[in-house]
Amino acid sequence: MKAYDVAAIRAQFPILTRPWEPPLIYLDNAASTQQPACVIEAVADYHRGQHANIHRAVHRLSQTATLLYEQARERVARFINAQEPAECIFTRGTTESINLVAASWGRANLKPGDEILLSTLEHHSNIVPWQMVAEATGAHIRVISIDDSGELDLDAFRRLLSKRTRILAITQVSNALGTVNPVAELIAEAHAAGALVLIDGAQWVAHGPTDVQALDADFYVFSGHKLYGPTGIGVLYGKRRWLESMSPYQGGGDMIERVSFEQTLYADLPNRFEAGTPHIAGAIGLGVAIDWLSGIGFAAISAHEEGLVGAAVTRLAEVPGLVIQGRPRQRAGVVSWVMVDPPIATLDIGAALDLRGICIRTGHHCCQPLMDRLGISSTARASFALYNQLAEVEALAAALQEIREKAIRGPRQAEHRHLGG
Ligand code: PMP
Repeated sequence: MKAYDVAAIRAQFPILTRPWEPPLIYLDNAASTQQPACVIEAVADYHRGQHANIHRAVHRLSQTATLLYEQARERVARFINAQEPAECIFTRGTTESINLVAASWGRANLKPGDEILLSTLEHHSNIVPWQMVAEATGAHIRVISIDDSGELDLDAFRRLLSKRTRILAITQVSNALGTVNPVAELIAEAHAAGALVLIDGAQWVAHGPTDVQALDADFYVFSGHKLYGPTGIGVLYGKRRWLESMSPYQGGGDMIERVSFEQTLYADLPNRFEAGTPHIAGAIGLGVAIDWLSGIGFAAISAHEEGLVGAAVTRLAEVPGLVIQGRPRQRAGVVSWVMVDPPIATLDIGAALDLRGICIRTGHHCCQPLMDRLGISSTARASFALYNQLAEVEALAAALQEIREKAIRGPRQAEHRHLGG
């Protein structure tokens, strides 16, 4: 294997090669990754010379746009090893994909007394849509707890799994702690109990290979903007037999075979779930991002990222008074912490790091039930991508040491430029 050349990778990201002052250290990748020039160019090229609405016209631009859009779907299918491109529906992102399944599959299949199994680690987007469908159908939500290391309690999972479980909807990676869940095992056990499984792959797909057939996932969802692609585009993968059995989520143009005022015949997959004009440029950009990522290869990417995350855990643990949240055995991309001695609000940590050019995320990370379980209201979170480097981990640890020392020494106001505090 060729040595991983992080400098060559960074050179492909326009935002990373600008002359920032102070130099930019971007560690908010779990919220959104930056885009390489090939993605930015593909989207710009589309707008410059290929744009038209898809699927509807015989003219050359529409045909080109349609071809590019459908090629992007083929790239997505290859990337996650779907059996066929038609099983890959373009959505606005993970959130819309989950809402689609909850509304379309959930409302038709759930009845009073049925159970939807979630976990404490879920992002709000894998909680709220299920609460909405539970309220509408009389189904109940059950929650798999976690242990103190931030890992799923598999005994609790097995206890909760029953004939009443209709669907397990669970994240592959916690966006707040980085915990990697054993999804293959969870899927096999859920299937043995007769339940379907939706995997929230939002935090996984950029970090390791995804094979929906090997996993045997019924639904698998992710967003383009955490995968070096544009915002506003994402994917719902579903096994053909489930998608075919589901009613459309939205009605409109492009999702029909024939409409009259008496009756509408819906189009086949994937169109029946893509009502209206989609984010054509976004899909094209996502397809390019996926091919670019695949060209680098996950063997090299995960080795590099594991080095970064491992170093971050080690170096941050050396900062006195800093408590890392969660100690999962397998962690992807994320390290979260709070500063307890002296106590420094996470928002203040984020603002103080920003003054030093370091972008991290602070808050509940759309995981309030998880924060409740941890007994805190927020964390500071650094999250890593394939373009981060060890020097950035060192800079983060050094900055945290310095922020802590300043807090001990005295008035913190000097650090509060952004917050007016
Ligand atoms: N699930 C997880 C685990 C996430 O990290 C996120 C994004 N933070 C989402 C779902 C929602 O993704 P999006 O906002 O792109 O729809």
